Amino acid sequence: RQAQGPALRDGQGPVKIVVVYQSLLGIYGDQGNAKVLHQRLAWRGIDSEVIFVEPGQRLPADGAIYLLGGGEDNAQTTAVRELKADGALFSALADGAVLFAVCAGYQICGHTFTIGENDEVREGLGVLDVTTRRGSRRAVGEILTRWTKPDGTQTYLTGFENHGGFTTLGPDAAPLARVEVGIGNADEGTEGAVQGRVIGTYPHGPVLARNPELADHLLHLATGRVLEPLPGPQPEHDGLRAERMAFVRRTRA
Ligand code: GLN
Repeated sequence: RQAQGPALRDGQGPVKIVVVYQSLLGIYGDQGNAKVLHQRLAWRGIDSEVIFVEPGQRLPADGAIYLLGGGEDNAQTTAVRELKADGALFSALADGAVLFAVCAGYQICGHTFTIGENDEVREGLGVLDVTTRRGSRRAVGEILTRWTKPDGTQTYLTGFENHGGFTTLGPDAAPLARVEVGIGNADEGTEGAVQGRVIGTYPHGPVLARNPELADHLLHLATGRVLEPLPGPQPEHDGLRAERMAFVRRTRA
């Protein structure tokens, strides 16, 4: 069951941004995505609150957006167990919340993922129609992808990928973007997955600091608001785009 509308309706207080289990899924600094979301709302005069929840604490069920980050294999297993025991993430998603998951967080959103040298299969949360298996190498380095925005225009996303798991999409999930440089999901040139209001992606950075358009897309999904562009150079600006692409190509030739 997935709701169509945003979890937040006007007049219901600050937008709640929930950072899930930073101690397990925070080793790559992906919690910085919460700061980006908070600040981009603040610049537009919209109140938000960043809530950090650790294993053993209850997750709020009324978050507008939940964030999962990267982490090590064992931490992934613990996170799934805790999230299933808690249950609030599932009810929040059914109520229209947005889930943005990076790398290990992305992998655990799927049906299964594998951990360790022996490729032991673990159950995921099952909120994305994807499965992840260990590949024959690690994908490490700068990644550049091409993202078709909801308005049909295209832009580039960048980040840093570092994963041993490779992800295959089922029919209910669509790729987030196409790989230009780097690896992404597997070897077929796609990166990330989108299914309803759940978005998974490999790049760290934190990725939303490097890709403000993606941050604004999530905020639009989560709040239902039309967000005015912020002053200053826009990422779509040709010079910035060329600079990003050159950087990625230079560091991962
Ligand atoms: N442990 C997972 C893997 O190696 C995820 C790593 C990460 O979050 N960067 O595939």
